[in-house]
Amino acid sequence: MGLLVVGSIALDSVSTPFGQTADALGGSAVYFAVAGAVLHPVQVVGVVGSDFPFAELERLAQRGVDLAGVARVPGESFRWKGKYSYDLQSRETLETRLGVFADFHPTIPPAFRAAKFVFLGNIDPELQLSVLDQVTAPTLVACDTMNYWIHSKRDVLLELLRHIDVLMVNDSEARELSGDWNIYRAARWVLGRGPKRVVIKQGEHGALLAAGDRVFKVPGYPLEEVFDPTGAGDAFAGGFMGHLARTGDVSEPNLRRAMVYGAAMGSFAVEAFGVQRFEQVTAQDVEARVQGFLQLTQFDVPGRGR
Ligand code: AMP
Repeated sequence: MGLLVVGSIALDSVSTPFGQTADALGGSAVYFAVAGAVLHPVQVVGVVGSDFPFAELERLAQRGVDLAGVARVPGESFRWKGKYSYDLQSRETLETRLGVFADFHPTIPPAFRAAKFVFLGNIDPELQLSVLDQVTAPTLVACDTMNYWIHSKRDVLLELLRHIDVLMVNDSEARELSGDWNIYRAARWVLGRGPKRVVIKQGEHGALLAAGDRVFKVPGYPLEEVFDPTGAGDAFAGGFMGHLARTGDVSEPNLRRAMVYGAAMGSFAVEAFGVQRFEQVTAQDVEARVQGFLQLTQFDVPGRGR
C-alpha cells in the first residue's frame, strides 16, 4: 500500500538552549519520511535547489524512502532558521528563504499516483488540492497546515477540508482555524467542515484524536532529555500514517493505535538535533516505546477490571 508525502525539503538552522545546527537536513516531508519509513516505505514529492547536498537525501533511500518525486531545479534550496525559548515551549522563526520552494508545483510521478495513504504536508492549500487531483483512489488522506495559510488562504483551506479524511494540526493552529480557544470545541468545529477525524497535537502534552463525539488521548512520552523539538509534528504524522499504511486498516481502534505510533515517533524526533535520531531507531525500538505508552496509561478500577 503506497504511502505518499508531499511537503517541504529544507536546510534548517536551529538554535535551542542545548546547541545549534546550520543548514541541516529538514523540512516537513523529510521528518515525515524518516519516521514513517521505520514502519513502511515512503514515497516523497518535493523540490530542492542546485545547492542541496543531495547525497544526504539519497542516504534515506537505504531506509525505504523513495525519492523519485523529488525535483532538482536550478536555484537556492528552501532554508528555515528558528530559535527556541529556554523551556522549548515556543519558537521564533528568524528567517524563511523560500528559494525554489516558491515556485513548487507538486507533480506526482505516475508510479506514486495509486498511493493509498497520502499526507499533505504544510504547503499552500491550493497545491494540496492539486495533489488530490493527481492521486487516483486514496484510502485515507491526512493534511497539515500552518497559521500563515489559515490567515492568507482561509477559503481554499476550507474547501480542502471537504476533500480530506484527517486534519492533523497543533493546538494553536486548531484554535486559530476555529476561532475557539477550547481545543475540544475546536475539534468539533473541524469535524463539522468535512474531515471525519481530526488530530490535534499538543507538544509535550501529547495529542488527541476526535471522531464523531469520541475523543482519544495519547500522552507525551516522558523524556528527561529533549534537545530539539523541530519536526516532532511531522514525525508524529509519519508514525501515524506509517502504521496505517502497513496495516491497511482505517478502523477507529487502529487509528487509536496509530496515534501511539505517532507519539512514539514524535518522542524520538526531539531526542536529538534534526533528523539524526532516526538514523538509529529500529522497528524494535518503536515497539519498546509503544509498550512504554501501554504501561504509562494502564490502570484498573478495583471491582471493574480494566
Ligand atoms: P514543525 O516543527 O513540525 O513545525 O516542522 C518544522 C519543519 O518545517 C522544519 O524542518 C522546517 O524546514 C519546515 N518549515 C518551516 N517553515 C515552513 C514553511 N513556511 N513551509 C514549509 N515548511 C516549513
